[in-house]
Amino acid sequence: MTKILVTGAGGFIGHHLVTFLKQKGYWVRGVDIKKPEFADTDADEFQLLDLKKIENCLRATQDMEQVFHLAANMGGIGFIETHKADIVFENTVIDMHMLHAAKTNKVQKFLYTSSACIYPAYKQDTPDIVPLKEEDAYPALPEDGYGWEKLYIERACRHYREDYGLKTYMVRFHNIFGPLGTYDGGREKSPAAICRKVALAKTQDEIEVWGDGQQTRSYCYIEDCVVGMYKLMQSDYHEPLNLGQDRLITINELVDIVAKIAGKKIAKKYDLSKPQGVRGRNSDNTLLSQILNWSPSVTLEVGLEATYNWIEEQLRKEKRI
Ligand code: NAD
Repeated sequence: MTKILVTGAGGFIGHHLVTFLKQKGYWVRGVDIKKPEFADTDADEFQLLDLKKIENCLRATQDMEQVFHLAANMGGIGFIETHKADIVFENTVIDMHMLHAAKTNKVQKFLYTSSACIYPAYKQDTPDIVPLKEEDAYPALPEDGYGWEKLYIERACRHYREDYGLKTYMVRFHNIFGPLGTYDGGREKSPAAICRKVALAKTQDEIEVWGDGQQTRSYCYIEDCVVGMYKLMQSDYHEPLNLGQDRLITINELVDIVAKIAGKKIAKKYDLSKPQGVRGRNSDNTLLSQILNWSPSVTLEVGLEATYNWIEEQLRKEKRI
């Protein structure tokens, strides 16, 4: 039976990926510094390890044929704009140690989770942005801190493939969302934050929106995300690949969809002092559909309904509503 390591298995995407891989019949080892917060893991083995340390990366990759490497210090825009030093230090150390350990322990395939934050600021300065193609990454001007680190490690993945024959794969996620993700505390991303605010609001209340609400993004549901990662790992494609939806919407529209799901009339109060990231961002999925012969298909409305219902349930359990 193929043995697979998932790092970051205590986090949002890693937890869902473990469940998916178990359903496919693999033997799975999960590693993280924390256990999954909201549900038990399905992993055959779960090790609590700090992957900043090379000895822990060597232990994690021992006897593994494939690695899905997701562990990272990360969060939404409010977090990554205010923790740049911690992010670049911790993620560089984790990623380089993981690559080196995978090569040392003769892992065959290594998937790295990069981000749309590697794309240059100058291609994302209007809300009606042209969707980003993989080749748009250069000349580089990524998101400061988090984005530069991801872009550099994409290159390191290529070096390990070219010099050592480690088959590396790279996905650039575009705003993944769904149940079992962080929804409060400062690390949450916009869909989860908006679902929380709408769930806590009474009908006719106003909720705080970061920026003027005209900034645009695309959002991809977690089920599509894990399928896309899995399909890439079955392929022979070793360059970075977008993994996201290509439906562009404004934050205002996102709030309206969530309010409709909640059955509430919600007004918006704009806070222009809060970080909003790039002005517009969308994924060009031409290469994705060509390489994987597949595209994400879960609609935003369906994904948001599942996410909203789950977050509302958590808030009820916490007796906040
Ligand atoms: P997450 O924060 O839920 O999961 C990351 C996990 O890594 C956490 O459980 C954390 O405890 C773990 N981790 C951090 N430091 C560690 C260490 N020293 N040793 C071991 N584990 C450690 O985030 P996520 O949304 O599941 O993201 C997974 C990956 O995808 C990350 O690499 C992230 O940068 C990337 N990504 C995510 C998105 C998104 O929209 N969620 C977008 C772009 C890229």
